[in-house]
Amino acid sequence: ATFEQLGLIPELLARLTELEYVTPTLVQTGTIAAVLEGKDVLAGAITGSGKTAAFALPLIQRLLSKQSTSVKGNLIGTLVLVPTRELAQQVAESFKSYAKLIKPRVKVEAVFGGVSANTQMLALRGGADVLVATPGRLLDLISSNAVKLGQVTSLVLDEADRMLSLGFEEELTEILAKLPKHKQTLLFSATFPEEVKILTDKLLSSPVEVQL
Ligand code: AMP
Repeated sequence: ATFEQLGLIPELLARLTELEYVTPTLVQTGTIAAVLEGKDVLAGAITGSGKTAAFALPLIQRLLSKQSTSVKGNLIGTLVLVPTRELAQQVAESFKSYAKLIKPRVKVEAVFGGVSANTQMLALRGGADVLVATPGRLLDLISSNAVKLGQVTSLVLDEADRMLSLGFEEELTEILAKLPKHKQTLLFSATFPEEVKILTDKLLSSPVEVQL
């Protein structure tokens, strides 16, 4: 398949041409159309498989169709949970890059520990279309009312196995309880140990499965 056949809009296709992405990777081919349709997705995908674009491209497009690009009041549209600060920065940069030609601008923010929360709190005033977060810092920001998750329409768990192996299970449970029941959920993981399967069963409803 081509990116066009997967259903992406011209603004995203033009950006992919600029980035010299010619052919979708396997995980992108398996995921993009399903995400555009609003389905839940369970994907086995390692770093380097193109997993970031597999969720970022269709989620950017869905934000536009929902007209939620003018989120206000510290509300978040799409929430991406990741295990580490490095991955948070990297995934946020990818969203920004893929959305570069989209008007009105898609607001993407990243929050993670190890740095002062003040700058992150300021950046989140007025909300964000896409928030990429590590679990601990996200909970801190929720407690101080800098983030509100009541309007999240799509949730991504990226590197779910690493999130659990790094001990984020309790934080995850706490965050998940604050999200709306009706939302789209995508889970990406390199491996599927029992703890990931339990999370998957709890979170996903009739997911499209992409196993590589
Ligand atoms: P990821 O697995 O998301 O960390 O992506 C790995 C690398 O592949 C990143 O540098 C992406 O920019 C690049 N990439 C992702 N999808 C494609 C594609 N379809 N064609 C060429 N490069 C890609």
